[in-house]
Amino acid sequence: MADTIFSKIIDRQIAADIVYEDDLCLAFRDVNPQAPVHILLIPKKPLDMLSNAGAEDQALLGHMLLAAGKITRDLKIDGAFRLVINNGKEGGQAVFHVHMHILAGRKFRWPPG
Ligand code: 5GP
Repeated sequence: MADTIFSKIIDRQIAADIVYEDDLCLAFRDVNPQAPVHILLIPKKPLDMLSNAGAEDQALLGHMLLAAGKITRDLKIDGAFRLVINNGKEGGQAVFHVHMHILAGRKFRWPPG
């Protein structure tokens, strides 16, 4: 997988406002927030798209969902938030390193645009 801006954030070559880190994943504030709270949660393992994840990623992806829950509790947004994974260009994905958007602090419409 080619290097992305997110692998540079993992390697601390580019600065980010990090809110959570453990052995497997890293979370930081989105540089262009779409809500009052907008966090990106990424695996440290390079994986370009969720659709390319395999059985070997089962524990990692479960771990990330639990980490997302912990982050929302830590930031006191656990009462209302939205978790989004854009997959593929047409799905809105711009950075090809899997990431979950954790959005909170405003009312969200359904269906999403
Ligand atoms: P995607 O469209 O791929 O689902 O989301 C990529 C996200 O990464 C966008 O919300 C964008 O604002 C964010 N982003 C892009 N470059 C940077 C960066 O250098 N730092 C941070 N913190 N966020 C970034």
